[in-house]
Amino acid sequence: RALNFNAGPAALPVEVLKEAEQNLLNFSNTGMGIMELSHRSKEYQAVHDQAIALLRKLMAIPDDYEVLFIQGGASLQFSMVPMNLLGRGQAAHYVLSGSWSDKALKEADKIGETVIAASSKDQKYRFIPAYSQDDIPDNAAYLHITSNNTIYGTQWKTFPSNKKTPLVADMSSDILSRSLEVEQFDLIYAGAQKNLGPSGVTVVIIRKELLERSSENLPTMLNYNTFANDNSLYNTPPTLAIYLLSLVLKWADKQGGLQQIENTNEKKAKTLYDIIDESEGFYIGHAHKDSRSRMNVTFNLHSADLSKEFLQQAKEAGFVGLGGHRSIGGCRASIYNAVPEQHVEKLAAFMKAFKNKN
Ligand code: PLP
Repeated sequence: RALNFNAGPAALPVEVLKEAEQNLLNFSNTGMGIMELSHRSKEYQAVHDQAIALLRKLMAIPDDYEVLFIQGGASLQFSMVPMNLLGRGQAAHYVLSGSWSDKALKEADKIGETVIAASSKDQKYRFIPAYSQDDIPDNAAYLHITSNNTIYGTQWKTFPSNKKTPLVADMSSDILSRSLEVEQFDLIYAGAQKNLGPSGVTVVIIRKELLERSSENLPTMLNYNTFANDNSLYNTPPTLAIYLLSLVLKWADKQGGLQQIENTNEKKAKTLYDIIDESEGFYIGHAHKDSRSRMNVTFNLHSADLSKEFLQQAKEAGFVGLGGHRSIGGCRASIYNAVPEQHVEKLAAFMKAFKNKN
């Protein structure tokens, strides 16, 4: 397997790919591959229901939340969230902590009134901006955060309370990476292609109460109720992506659940951050220490030329996907759940050796 540090689509667990390989030809003795089965068949229904049940189990999702499978990526949620939740006379509040939250805000702007609740944009999004609940008026439609900022490598450690205002979180790049209390949120959404599976399915976890807000005038496929009322089977769902999601969830369960996965992720991130911190300025982390992401480790070398040389040599050594996002450059190691600890240790050894040579 390649030493794959891509930010997304990201590596999948090898066990998952092996099991899927077999079932692409003949799923459960049907003589058909999983994506050739009718989405109304009992075989597919079992896969679909298992994916929902496993996600509920792993994340301890309470009964008063719906789990929905929607297409269109997390980017469609940038529009669906305000379309469904932002009413007249209300404003939606957004914390700007990176390019994705900025994009989410821009889409909400097209639907209704928005307010920037806090921002670290003028500091190159190096940290999660400080934010006060007191600044949110009682009639705010919701507060939107991005729990992990994939491009800048920052991550929320604790979350705002949702007692006063519904809390909406884009968890595309850290869902299933740590244990958290779903009750702290009113809506969670995540494109699958980092920790959940392949692209093509987006998971939405929504408090049932919020479903009452959606106007009946919304286009059918943009209304959360369409998915909630039909167990996400109103039309043809992305069956292959949901099947792979079910396998990833089975794998995550086998790892021992989210607490165990969190421990491993913490260890993996520490391995790389220690190299950065002990390098005496050779590697320069982008994120402030207290905002560091355990999923995306972003760093620079002290000159653009040296960064380029690092990336070139890393590529020759077999490391894939270490270039930083085009908006900030530098380097980024994405170490989602499926990246094995041994791959992270290999990268740490490479970084150490590169520093000693240069
Ligand atoms: N939100 C975050 C935090 C992301 O990292 C990404 C993609 O990397 C997106 C949203 C956009 O996701 P999609 O490509 O599924 O629309």
